[in-house]
Amino acid sequence: MAKQQKTAITPTRSDDFPEWYQQVIKSADMAENSETRGCMVIKPWGYGIWENIQSQLDAKFKATGHQNAYFPLLIPLSYLEKEAEHAEGFATECAVVTHHRLEAEKDENGKTKMVPTGKLTEPYVIRPTSETIIGAAFSRWIESYRDLPLLVNQWANVMRWEMRPRLFLRTAEFLWQEGHTAHETRDEALVETKLIHKLYEDFLRDHLAIPVVPGEKTEAERFPGAENTFTVEAMVQDKKAIQAGTSHYLGQNFAKAQNIVFTGREGKQEHVHTTSWGVSTRLIGTLIMAHSDDDGLVLPPAVATHQIVIIPVTPKADSRDAVLDSCNALAEILRNKCYKGSPIRVHVDQREIGGGTKKWEWVKKGAPIRIEIGPRDVEGGKVCLQRRDQAVMEKNFVVREEFIQQVPDILQEIHNTLLDKATELRDTNIAECSDLAEFEKHWDQDQPGWLLTPWNATREQEEELSKRLKITIRCMPLDKQEEAEASCILTGKPTTQRALWGRSY
Ligand code: AMP
Repeated sequence: MAKQQKTAITPTRSDDFPEWYQQVIKSADMAENSETRGCMVIKPWGYGIWENIQSQLDAKFKATGHQNAYFPLLIPLSYLEKEAEHAEGFATECAVVTHHRLEAEKDENGKTKMVPTGKLTEPYVIRPTSETIIGAAFSRWIESYRDLPLLVNQWANVMRWEMRPRLFLRTAEFLWQEGHTAHETRDEALVETKLIHKLYEDFLRDHLAIPVVPGEKTEAERFPGAENTFTVEAMVQDKKAIQAGTSHYLGQNFAKAQNIVFTGREGKQEHVHTTSWGVSTRLIGTLIMAHSDDDGLVLPPAVATHQIVIIPVTPKADSRDAVLDSCNALAEILRNKCYKGSPIRVHVDQREIGGGTKKWEWVKKGAPIRIEIGPRDVEGGKVCLQRRDQAVMEKNFVVREEFIQQVPDILQEIHNTLLDKATELRDTNIAECSDLAEFEKHWDQDQPGWLLTPWNATREQEEELSKRLKITIRCMPLDKQEEAEASCILTGKPTTQRALWGRSY
């Protein structure tokens, strides 16, 4: 029997993918479950990734004319009731605040208990999303066509009482951004919806090294209250789908429900057309599942908390200071260089712990570049370069000055390696299928890939098939809606449209 290679993470991806995912997060010290049901504690190594995602996306929102604002966490119940479909869509996931005071009472053992009192006359819902409360503000702010478009974004936490939580991917409380915009016409609002959809696609590819399938959700999968929902769908290593971000055209539904009107160019009162769009801390779960390996986290350089970790190797007391000085001097030089428009993030790990332990810690944390410098390297003007996208034991001794010159290119090469691998995974696991029997059989496999089928059946037919086979239409891919005419896989009716099916997280 072949000797099994020892891995830093147990179980491996092929043994038990969901458990491997939990263990990667634990070994990288990114986050943990909290005592609050469904909620997580995001630790500094995980939060640093979120801060980078946040600042890089924020720059893109601002470059496309959006401004940040902040709205209340608590939404009056009556606001939510205004748009029926929206209210129903979120009804089963809402946490509700009903009291505003606590009173101390002693129980039979003399122990103090805090009891909620001061019942509110109108309960508040902890925002699951903010269309309603932002809409109420928009109706006050907008008077004429000159106030449009109104382009606002909020960075916030929201709460959806998820029944099956999973760290980062689906938590009851999560961090996100939600964009909300109002426009004069349907066309302008649709341009905005698609602009953000494309911005998400580009961001995932260029910053997270995740190639997505951009497409539109079917009516069954749409955001409650939306006319169109555009999605970016990522395939992760067990071939499941993750809805990584969504952009909605809300038509005039919310404007009518909340009386968001403006005086148009001809002096008539009209309802605005609104959009909303969001990505969340789910992006972190997606990048873990997309790139990490059996030795732990692998981070795309653009969002890595530290991009370079310098590890001083100090075997002798008399050369220790020289090594530390050299490491800190190198760190300073690197911090003055940029990658993708931001200063390079460098950490010197000076802790006095064993070299092997230290090295493996940074492997498991997914630092894109590790640099070791020992006394001989200081003398020879070299560094030992190790890349997380290469085998853990691979070392390259490079001239220090050359490394400094090349570092942005090396980070980009690491990004490209991750993107190429993820693209290959996606492209080799999407197949076309036009035979129903074959389609049904496909899902019996362990880790089935996605299937693209000719499709123009009804919502009810889609829901029946989805429920029976435990799959969903991830999207109607944008570039596959004007294909050669073929028979719908279910109804046999001729269609040029294609649906992409998969199992999802
Ligand atoms: P939505 O407002 O429902 O379109 O959500 C916007 C985005 O937030 C989705 O596309 C998901 O990527 C993400 N998201 C939705 N629910 C959760 C959750 N429970 N935990 C983390 N992210 C979520």
